[in-house]
Amino acid sequence: MVAENYREVEREICEACKKSGRSRDEVTLIAVSKTKPVEMIREAMEAGADTFGENKVQELCEKYEQLPGTLHWHLIGHLQRNKVKYIVDKAELIHSVDSLRLAEEIDKEAGKKGVEAKILVEVNVAGEESKFGVSVEETEALVENISKLPHVRVQGLMTIAPYVEDPEENRPIFRTLKKLAVDIKMKNIDNVRMDVLSMGMTNDYQVAVEEGATMVRVGTGIFGERNYSV
Ligand SMILES: *Cc1c(COP(=O)(O)O)cnc(C)c1O
Repeated sequence: MVAENYREVEREICEACKKSGRSRDEVTLIAVSKTKPVEMIREAMEAGADTFGENKVQELCEKYEQLPGTLHWHLIGHLQRNKVKYIVDKAELIHSVDSLRLAEEIDKEAGKKGVEAKILVEVNVAGEESKFGVSVEETEALVENISKLPHVRVQGLMTIAPYVEDPEENRPIFRTLKKLAVDIKMKNIDNVRMDVLSMGMTNDYQVAVEEGATMVRVGTGIFGERNYSV
């Protein structure tokens, strides 16, 4: 089932790329495996998946140990400063940086381990109170401040769009994130790339791809519904 779902998502991404005149290799599919067992991750691997997203540090670390070192792991969930040390050399990209204090902690731990931490700044485009992320207005200043940290590299922006019935409703959100990235890129801030746009989930990833997503984070669409009560 997982392999089949993965191929279906892959087809939808190809379709969205075609529709918007983009090349398929501009978009990375991140299979969001949170709460799902390693056996299911192996099934996705059989269908070609090699990039996985987790939102908890401990879960990422456990799966990282159990699975082949050729996989790419992304931390997509909110990160607490006291957990940074466990993740900084395992996550290839941290999608959820929304404060200078967190970025400074990442910088410190990356420095200790002699690595460069790649990060995205999480933007709360819709301004939902329940969500993490900085506002559109605060984003450039935060990027600028993070850019001065020697062991952190800003690669782009991430957003979690609201849950909506009709994915078209999120099109303006994706467009806003894309525009924000373009505006910041034009400032040519040292050490900052604005080439990664992580946006789009099971419900709306096709629209996100049409609006310029370079990473989509798909969980339910690949692994099925999550059960948080177990
Ligand atoms: C869980 C999660 C996803 C995947 O959500 P689905 O709707 O299951 O595709 C994507 N991004 C983040 C940050 C998540 O926490």
